[in-house]
Amino acid sequence: MNTLAIIALLSTIVLGFWILLIRPSIHDESSQEAYDTSDEQRVSALLRGIHHLLSDKPTLALQDMVEVARLRSESTEVYMALGEMFLSQGEIGRAVRIHQNILARPKVPQPLYIQAHFALANDFQTGGLLDRALRHYQKVLDVQSDHLDALIASLRIREMSHEWKEAESLLSHIERLQDQDHSLHRAYLWAEMAEESLQQGDYTQARQYAEQALQMSDDCIHAYLIMITLELDEKNISALSQYIDKMCDKKEDYLHLLVPMLQAEHPELLMQCWQRSHNHELALTWLETLAQEKEHIELEQNISIKPKHLRESLRLAALGKIADDCLIQYAQTWRTSMKRYHCEQCGIDVVEMYWQCPQCHTWGTSVLTEQYDIKE
Ligand SMILES: [Zn+2]
Repeated sequence: MNTLAIIALLSTIVLGFWILLIRPSIHDESSQEAYDTSDEQRVSALLRGIHHLLSDKPTLALQDMVEVARLRSESTEVYMALGEMFLSQGEIGRAVRIHQNILARPKVPQPLYIQAHFALANDFQTGGLLDRALRHYQKVLDVQSDHLDALIASLRIREMSHEWKEAESLLSHIERLQDQDHSLHRAYLWAEMAEESLQQGDYTQARQYAEQALQMSDDCIHAYLIMITLELDEKNISALSQYIDKMCDKKEDYLHLLVPMLQAEHPELLMQCWQRSHNHELALTWLETLAQEKEHIELEQNISIKPKHLRESLRLAALGKIADDCLIQYAQTWRTSMKRYHCEQCGIDVVEMYWQCPQCHTWGTSVLTEQYDIKE
């Protein structure tokens, strides 16, 4: 359990402490004696719980909190803290039952209703039950439509479920509430809608969505690639060249993605792209793609690259360009697991390119690791 979580839980326990010690004084004297006895038990369990938390023994602290809750069954604050502790221990089923029990009480005040539904949604999301999580986030939003945490969590679930339209609608709402520009993120969501239509063979719809993405942000490279696919299909070479030029102007990190699209039918366009950019990743990807083909020799003659880093040398070695069998073998093994992409937002290095970072979930922050190395 991290320090912040412990501080949060301790705060809740101190609040519980206050409730336990102060509130009995308002009861009548006839029941005072019974209270005194159970108070002692509760305070004792609380103190043990605090001691176990401070000793970093969350499992024992949890047992003590269960005891406190048993002795003070009407205290929702203690139950909310207990639910949070169960969740942090991975006991999702018990966290869910606690939060459901709070909601099953008669006349739940609105702040507690929101808090318990949000906690329940978080339980289900942690357990991977995304539909149920969404339903409870929606219950929060039905009462408080500007609940930012519920909106952001719902957006994350919609993105995970590839429900791009719903995600876009949530993001517009978040954009209005935060008064921040999320146009690039929104453009990537429109590009995902376009990609989906493309996969389903609905090219008209794909074009509309991709154009919408580019209107939203002309930095959305995924949308350029979709437009290039569509122009290739329509054999509209002049429009195709324009989109390739725009990609060269915007971000060269993605030019190599054109190789599988163009190398078979339009190698001349790839060559133009190389001549314009001299982008090494484009050249290496092209050479690697054609490694087993006879065109490889011709391409090598037309593209001559001098490696800028060890990575590039190793990639050329993996293509058999260095007469050292051992280095070639190591280079080939290294190449299969090479982390080629780097997230500018969170710093994670990954093998496959993602439009949305798999760690921080930011869109369009992927750059080539080599470029990052150069900046370093
Ligand atoms: Zn990231």
